[in-house]
Amino acid sequence: MKFSLGFVLAISLAGLQFLAILIVVSTSYLTSEKAMLQHARDRLAEAGANASEHSSGFLKPAREVAELSQRVIESGIVGTNDFPQLENFLFQTLQTETQISGIYFGDEAGNFTYVMRSDDGPGPFRTKIIRPGLRAQSADLIWRNADFSTVETLVDPNDSFDPRTRPWYESAKLNRSTVWTDPYVFFSSRQLGISVAVPVVFDNAIKGVIGVDIEISTISNFLSELELSTHGSALILDGAGNVIAHPRMAQMIEGDTDSAPDLVGIEDIDDPVAQAAFNQSGSDGLIKVERETQSEFEYENDKYVSLLKPLSETELPWTIAVYAPEKDFTQSIKNNRTRNIWLAALVSFLAALAGLALAELILRPVRAFAVRTALVSQGEVPDTAPLPETYKELEKANETLIDQIAQRRNADARILELNRDLSHFSRVNLMGQMATGLAHELSQPLTAISQNVDAAITTAKQHKDINPDLLNILTELDDQAHRGGDILRALRGFIRKDQGEKKPFDVNELVKQTQSLLHHEALEQKVTLRFDVNQMPLVTGNRIQIAQVLINLVRNAIEAITEADSPVKEVAIMAREQPNHLEIWVEDTGPGISPDVTLFKQFETSKKDGMGLGLSICRTIAEANGGRLWYDQDHKEGSRFCLSLPI
Ligand code: ADP
Repeated sequence: MKFSLGFVLAISLAGLQFLAILIVVSTSYLTSEKAMLQHARDRLAEAGANASEHSSGFLKPAREVAELSQRVIESGIVGTNDFPQLENFLFQTLQTETQISGIYFGDEAGNFTYVMRSDDGPGPFRTKIIRPGLRAQSADLIWRNADFSTVETLVDPNDSFDPRTRPWYESAKLNRSTVWTDPYVFFSSRQLGISVAVPVVFDNAIKGVIGVDIEISTISNFLSELELSTHGSALILDGAGNVIAHPRMAQMIEGDTDSAPDLVGIEDIDDPVAQAAFNQSGSDGLIKVERETQSEFEYENDKYVSLLKPLSETELPWTIAVYAPEKDFTQSIKNNRTRNIWLAALVSFLAALAGLALAELILRPVRAFAVRTALVSQGEVPDTAPLPETYKELEKANETLIDQIAQRRNADARILELNRDLSHFSRVNLMGQMATGLAHELSQPLTAISQNVDAAITTAKQHKDINPDLLNILTELDDQAHRGGDILRALRGFIRKDQGEKKPFDVNELVKQTQSLLHHEALEQKVTLRFDVNQMPLVTGNRIQIAQVLINLVRNAIEAITEADSPVKEVAIMAREQPNHLEIWVEDTGPGISPDVTLFKQFETSKKDGMGLGLSICRTIAEANGGRLWYDQDHKEGSRFCLSLPI
């Protein structure tokens, strides 16, 4: 199937555009998906580092405050038995760091000085001093303003608190170094918290322990204020998998506020996303990581990224967990990508339109040119008519075409003429040849008739009573037989005289014309005609008669190939120059000559409709032109007829 140039151009342009968009869009989609996930991970890692750093930054001052107080007490600047001075010092220290809820010093004698922030008392700060050596099981409570002025004082006669039994005291004493406690319930506030405790040592003996409290709710508040991403959160887990801090603090504390609150695991907090993110991390609920680990998960059709990271720069065995929907980090990029894809589609659509317009622009002169060429070739427009405005290449093609058309017409006319001459000659020649054959065949019976009639007349004349009419009839018969013989002789003489006009001619040209004449016939039978005739010297002879011979030989070859349905279908005409003459070979890939046929003999044919005269006429023609026609017996595979003509 053939397509028009316009169709091919339009389809190619649109197809190429489509392909280009498809490749760009799909590769950019795939790569951007990966890049966006990486981007989300990077942003989350940043957020995780940020949260971890801030959390450490939040906890570290408590330790610094405790250690500073230790140095101050150990240096003797503040005396451990000067309770007003100690209280004042602790009060000052508490005010330096807002996240600290309380600071205290307990000693080996069970004395305890504790300064804390107080939300529900008569003043914003409250001091508790326990001195078992002075009064057993009672505590002095003092509420103060920020300027240390006293708001109210009270004696609690039933305070059995003993610092030496508290976890922070025991742990610091045991380790003789700074320690962080596990989360526990503060004695006074009943709030969950952690403490950092530092031993105070005099002369290598533990004198007491400084403690600093941080309420866990303070860490949660801090986490909720930490801006990770639009929908992201962070939480802190202790070594046992308990949630230490979560932005929604209230949900973490189970039970009513009067009893001691318990720590809860992730599965107990009302945060399904956090559960989806971290619940599966440890089989026994323990979540502890040595180094930063990232993962992805899906919750309600949204992709999330999560990160677990040990809390940096503290001795606390805590893990900070951060999670956020991927879209928090990638939504703007995704929007941008969608916009870009639409933009690319629009641009390529416009480009395709422009391409089609361009194709039309390019094609218009080509079409006009094609129409004009068709009209010129049909003779409806003279080839001198001006060419439509067009391209240089077309102008050149036009000139070549006009030239070719003209040449084809000189050539077609000649072939037509040759064809006419040939068919006329063929008829004349065939009749002549038939007449020759007939004359030859008839002359014998005529002679026999004539001789027998002569004998009959002689016999009749010997009988006297012969009927004169019979004698007349016999005499008339004899005359007619003689007349018939005369006519046949005259006919043979006439045919022998008709040898046609002989002139030098170009075999090369004649062979080409033969090809043109037989082109369609060969094409119909799918036979290839091959001509291997280079520049040859002129030969002398009757051009039309020689054409008749060539056509007859080639036609016989085509018929033989077709009849036998040879696998290779080819007829070749070749010319070889010999001393004084030229040899023309007609070879074919047919079955060769049937053994039943005697070549060049009149009326010998193997064909149903054949007359068996072609070859004998051809030989007569060849000889009449001073040449020869023979079959090459030595040739193997197919047939080879050879015609020689004088140069
Ligand atoms: P016709 O074509 O009418 O049969 P021809 O004298 O041209 O008469 O050919 C005589 C016979 O010679 C053909 O019938 C055919 O059997 C044989 N013959 C001629 N040319 C070829 C050829 N190229 N290959 C095989 N047989 C051929």
